[in-house]
Amino acid sequence: MRELLPYIKLYKKHWFGLSLGMLLSFATLFASIGLLTLSGWFISAAAVAGLTIARETFNYMLPGGGVRGFAMGRTAGRWGERVVSHNATFKLLTDLRIFFFKKLTPLIPGKAVNIRDADMLNRLVADVDAMDHVYLRLISPIVVGTLGIVCLTAFLCWVDMTLGLVLGGLLLTLLLIWPVVFYKLGKRNGEALTRNKADLRVSTLDWLQGYSELTLFGAEQRYRDAILKAQHRLISNQRFNANISGMAQGLLILINGWILVLMLWLAADGVGGQQPDPMIALVAFATMASFELLMPIAGAFQFLGQTLTSAKRLNEVILSKPQVCFPEEDVAHNNQFSIEFDNVSFGYPDGSRNALSTINLSLESGKKLAIVGQTGSGKSTIIQLLSRYWNVSGGSIKLAGQPIEHWSEAQLRKATSIVSQRVDILNGTLRDNLIMAKPKALDSELRLVLQKVGLEALSDDNGLDAWLGSGGRQLSGGEKRRIGIARALLHDAPILLLDEPTEGLDKQTERQIMSLFNEHFSGKTVIFITHRLVDLDKMDLICLLEQGEIVESGPHEQLVKAKGRYCELLQTL
Ligand code: ADP
Ligand code: MG
Repeated sequence: MRELLPYIKLYKKHWFGLSLGMLLSFATLFASIGLLTLSGWFISAAAVAGLTIARETFNYMLPGGGVRGFAMGRTAGRWGERVVSHNATFKLLTDLRIFFFKKLTPLIPGKAVNIRDADMLNRLVADVDAMDHVYLRLISPIVVGTLGIVCLTAFLCWVDMTLGLVLGGLLLTLLLIWPVVFYKLGKRNGEALTRNKADLRVSTLDWLQGYSELTLFGAEQRYRDAILKAQHRLISNQRFNANISGMAQGLLILINGWILVLMLWLAADGVGGQQPDPMIALVAFATMASFELLMPIAGAFQFLGQTLTSAKRLNEVILSKPQVCFPEEDVAHNNQFSIEFDNVSFGYPDGSRNALSTINLSLESGKKLAIVGQTGSGKSTIIQLLSRYWNVSGGSIKLAGQPIEHWSEAQLRKATSIVSQRVDILNGTLRDNLIMAKPKALDSELRLVLQKVGLEALSDDNGLDAWLGSGGRQLSGGEKRRIGIARALLHDAPILLLDEPTEGLDKQTERQIMSLFNEHFSGKTVIFITHRLVDLDKMDLICLLEQGEIVESGPHEQLVKAKGRYCELLQTL
């Protein structure tokens, strides 16, 4: 049960709506039981009165009014209860989703990389949904049920002590036994159901996303079978659930019948020491109605297994500590955007060897550094450390003379423009894809940038409103890259980090982009990662990276003269 604590805490904020919901639910049950009990007594009392002299004096009006009042109260109560508790639970769900999302985002890319997209979606949707069961299916029915039993018992005790205590005792026993028994019966199945629901989603998304590839390689059938299997398992879980629910309710009705027999037997000689009279009908109908208190609890507890498993799955995410934490406050710096690496080493959590070791670098503000090296030598890792995807394992990085850990997230993002190796295109318009880098940019500005990166053709069809990505125009690798460059130009930060920005572009476009960079670079601190050794003589400093270590560094001419590894590399390319 401890798994549920973080979620129950969120209930506090909505205590009013949730309590009002329970109160209205109680009022509805009260009216419902009152209606059956009163009308049972009223009909038999009226019938008895009709046969005797009492017909002259029998008051039809008051109980008749009561019956009508209860009937209307029940309808109004149910309506009110639905409105209030739905309102409260939807607000609660909103909070839960936001709460989960806020905990999730700092974990990317560190911890969450181990969870697949589809599974994450399932957690965000289905598992969060399951959290409102705690209120709707557990807390509310139990509180209302207990309260109802106490009131009914008190009322019956007032009529007849023995009858009241017997019915109250039996109801309370059932209220204690039923949840435990059906929780135990439904637990394993509930856990499996939650897992299988996730499996079904994951396998369906796998199949959908990889459909064309799977068809080409003839593996489509196998993946579709996996979906069918997952679905089959889920359906059998649901069938078991339905069986248990049916059994819980059926047994409760059976027990209700037997308790009714018992109560009739006890009441047969008269209620409250009187001769047998219409009060017997009152007791009988009260017994029948009392099971409305237990019905919501009957099937509820088999869902607890599901809810607990969902809570565990959510806790895996929300209780993880983020690898990287940003301070709230901005750091004061001198606006000279230098970059310094001091003995930096770094290893990925699942990597066996360090991706970077003892990196020492010092780049003054406004200077340009090129990092060259083979694939896998750790170039992109340097940029990831500078954008604080990860924390360094050893040593320190300073930006503008301040340790990078002291920079707030907004401040760091504002100071750096990045063209990463993989450019993601959002499903949205061309404009959406650009203004994320500069929200206030004018259309004319966007067009100018598109023209600079050679993408003016993209804005031809229906201009900036053309839809990109899924359901719209698909972009080639080169086009995506140029969108990435356009974003960096728009963002216009004092530090520019470029990760192989011209990879996948033809020679002519590459030249065009390089001259664009040279124009844009002025006054900015630049780290330019490349494995194509073009235009490197224009850089202030070149570092050659091999297996996570800097093996040579210096200006182009110096490295060429030294005739070392860099010179070899120049000749081979
Ligand atoms: P480059 O950009 O020079 O091609 P990277 O910096 O991307 O190289 O990678 C350096 C090393 O770190 C490689 O051996 C790569 O396999 C490893 N690596 C990169 N990203 C990850 C990651 N997210 N998790 C584990 N290892 C990684
Ligand atoms: Mg790389």
